[in-house]
Amino acid sequence: MNLKKRSEVATENTWDLSDLYESDAKWEEDFAALAKMLEPLLKLQGVLSESLNNLIHCFEIEDQIDRAITKVYTYAHLKSDQDLGNADYQAMQDRIKSKYVEISSQLAWILPEILSIPDSTIMQYFNDPKLGVWKRLLENYMRRKAHTLSPEEERLLAMAAEPMSGASKTFSMLSNADLKFPDVKDDSGNKAPLTSGNFIRFLESKNRDVRKGAFEAMYDTYSGLGNTFASTLDSNVRKQVFYARARKHESALQASLFEDNVQQEVYDGLIAAVHAELPSFYKYVDVRKRALGVDSLDMYDMYVPLVKDLELEVPFEQAREWVVASVQPLGTDYAKIVEQAFDERWIDRYENEGKRSGAYSSGCYDSRPYVLMNYQNNLNSVFTLAHELGHSMHSYLSIKNQPHAYSQYKIFVAEVASTLNEGLLFHYLMNNSTDEQLKTYLVNHKCDEFKGTVYRQTMFAEFEKKIHDIVEQGGALTKETLSQAYHELNKLYYGDQVQADQRIQYEWARIPHFYYNFYVYKYATGLSAAEAFLKRIRSGHPGALEGYLGFLGSGCTKDPLDLLAIAGVDLRKPDVVQDGLSQFAEYVDELGKRI
Ligand SMILES: [Zn+2]
Repeated sequence: MNLKKRSEVATENTWDLSDLYESDAKWEEDFAALAKMLEPLLKLQGVLSESLNNLIHCFEIEDQIDRAITKVYTYAHLKSDQDLGNADYQAMQDRIKSKYVEISSQLAWILPEILSIPDSTIMQYFNDPKLGVWKRLLENYMRRKAHTLSPEEERLLAMAAEPMSGASKTFSMLSNADLKFPDVKDDSGNKAPLTSGNFIRFLESKNRDVRKGAFEAMYDTYSGLGNTFASTLDSNVRKQVFYARARKHESALQASLFEDNVQQEVYDGLIAAVHAELPSFYKYVDVRKRALGVDSLDMYDMYVPLVKDLELEVPFEQAREWVVASVQPLGTDYAKIVEQAFDERWIDRYENEGKRSGAYSSGCYDSRPYVLMNYQNNLNSVFTLAHELGHSMHSYLSIKNQPHAYSQYKIFVAEVASTLNEGLLFHYLMNNSTDEQLKTYLVNHKCDEFKGTVYRQTMFAEFEKKIHDIVEQGGALTKETLSQAYHELNKLYYGDQVQADQRIQYEWARIPHFYYNFYVYKYATGLSAAEAFLKRIRSGHPGALEGYLGFLGSGCTKDPLDLLAIAGVDLRKPDVVQDGLSQFAEYVDELGKRI
């Protein structure tokens, strides 16, 4: 298929960025104005701590600057993503990025000056009604005080950031550029190149020899460089431990959780809840084994689809109809805004030459919450559309209901709205279709979602915790220690029925997420929270819908766990994850009956 050039794409299939800027010339005007915005702020340097008025003035200007930069950046990045080959927009994006770095460094004095204000004065400020909307912002600054060092020490830490990033850069260069894999056999028996990018495609092959061949080639290659990968991971873990200790956190895990103000009980509770529900996962593994008709299941049998390819053409207009119909349980107002997303062209629909791959939702306080997609006429794309619109609706409602400073929701809760909308689409299609093959596909899709998002990510989260513990207790991460730890976890999570090829012990070496500093557990808690909201809303639990919509409109006005708890889903209690996993158990039973 020949892809259209960006200039050939019909306007109605593209996003309308004109509410951001009517023209590039207008963008240039705002870009040029950024430098001037700094001037009144620089006058506050050295006198910031003198009065509450000065402090409030500082917060106001900083907020305006942040809002303006984000607007300028959003336009450049969206324009650039619609055609990465367009050098003009690339250049605009580069310019705003360096401008951002420049402005940030010019504002670096603010934090230490605020932290130098005596505690007694801060207490007076907190009791002064003049502080108004800025109270939470000041609280956030104060929360950091115990973990912020002297300006001179902070300067050293900032200088160390670049050299400290070497391990993850080396990992990325090795696995994305330099690492070469041997050719493997494809479905037609021909030799084919194996890459990190196409590995999963081989594992999805119906031909077991193809899966096995790719699996062996992949892990033999990683094992061959096992000492090198152990060294990059070891260095990266040491980096996190170093920063945690430097900033006086109890552990690297605590330092990471501090960002979202999440208590470690939530992290540990997730792992414990998943352990308790491993039997449901073993059941799923059993269904898989039966469906594939193999005597013993191996790790290279985990990705091959259990359900025949669904030959269902879903044009975009049909997807729109389904997505709008599926969100009706969230109320007519919500559904109307989703309609608006289509009518006002928030969505950039199809692939074109040079367009960024994948899908995302992005925007700013002064724009619509746009969606970039590469829509294909299939059911997977409909789920992606529902997912991204979930993000966009979350942004839309938070922006509508909150001042700029509190409109941006935290990553910790980001996947709740998107996953919930996928769940609504799932139930809508299950309830309104008579096509049994489609339903089997959907149930399998749901099981895969839990498998990939809750079980696998929790296993990753447990591994991450374990390897940081080893380093914090004075140990070292070698190829052997890492592989042994990984192998044990893999055995625990997949159970005795899987006769795992020993090579799976090297999987840790290829997972980029282990360089993301305790990030992956948020996928698992996000899906669990979404399932809990979904259940409450669908069963008509009193106040459930109001609570959920309130959460969507609350941005970052409180800590993420508090926002969820107020809306009725308290992740500090183990039953949220437990309930989600009981739901999974039901889907597994259903899948077992269907295949
Ligand atoms: Zn998402």
